[in-house]
Amino acid sequence: MRVLLLAGTGEGRALARRLAAVPAVRVTTSLAGRVAAPHPLEGEVRTGGFGGVDGLVSYLRAQGVDAVVDATHPFAARMTARAVAACRGLGVPLLALRRPGWVAASGDDWRRVPDLASAAAAVARIAPAGSAVLLTLGRGGLDAFAADGARRYVIRSIDPPEAGTLPPHHTLVSGRGPFDVDGERALLRDHRVSLLVTKDSGGDATVAKLVAARRGGLPVVMVDRPPLPEGVVPVEDVAAATAWVLGELDRWAGSGSSPRRCHPRGPTRC
Ligand code: NAP
Repeated sequence: MRVLLLAGTGEGRALARRLAAVPAVRVTTSLAGRVAAPHPLEGEVRTGGFGGVDGLVSYLRAQGVDAVVDATHPFAARMTARAVAACRGLGVPLLALRRPGWVAASGDDWRRVPDLASAAAAVARIAPAGSAVLLTLGRGGLDAFAADGARRYVIRSIDPPEAGTLPPHHTLVSGRGPFDVDGERALLRDHRVSLLVTKDSGGDATVAKLVAARRGGLPVVMVDRPPLPEGVVPVEDVAAATAWVLGELDRWAGSGSSPRRCHPRGPTRC
């Protein structure tokens, strides 16, 4: 059975490792190619966009993909929407794997906002002129803060930010999780940060900054996740995603190893 695994997350990597151990499943793990030196992945890997929904449909057909797992980051909404559209169009089973979002604990001072523009507006309300704001938002979307010349921004990302406009007063810090609380406290202290702006990515690898902010009494502007497409109900961990793939494998094998989806627009091997 052929599986396309849309990755770019720790869960995607872990799932690739698990599925590589299942002989009857041939997995291709797909990366967008955003990170210059991605973590090594087990098994077959492809890199780069598919070319929108049509490109993905062509890929799924040409490769005879039997099932797709979307283990992309909770904020990779475009890829998820395109995977849903392509798989629904072809009748290919699709599973979304989404780690749970973070939940505020006692002592946290979080302000939830729906998007980056609202995050920038929240910063203007909360952080006094001249103060330092830590942005851990990845490489993209920083334009929302570009017009703010009143504050200092500390921008942390794996690779340098994408071309675009950055706030006039900024310091770039390169870093890749997992991070620990002591390191995060040192970062906040060394740059005299008074406000953290982050996305609700969830997971353990980058949660230490939230613990550090709590201990330091710092407010956090938390950007909410984009909603999943209608009708998509995700599983939350790698074990559940593995079980889903094995269930699909059973069905696939039970159908005489011939694709169940031999519809007119189906995979070329139908
Ligand atoms: P996005 O906005 O949803 O996707 C933009 C385009 O990138 C997609 O339409 C697709 O191009 C291509 N793409 C995205 N993920 C892909 C994948 N796994 N394999 C092949 N093509 C992919 O995504 P993004 O926010 O730029 O994130 C890009 C990648 O980085 C994702 O794989 C995600 O898991 C990872 N990541 C994102 C974040 C984040 O905060 N957004 C954080 C950590 C990791 P086509 O339309 O041409 O197919």
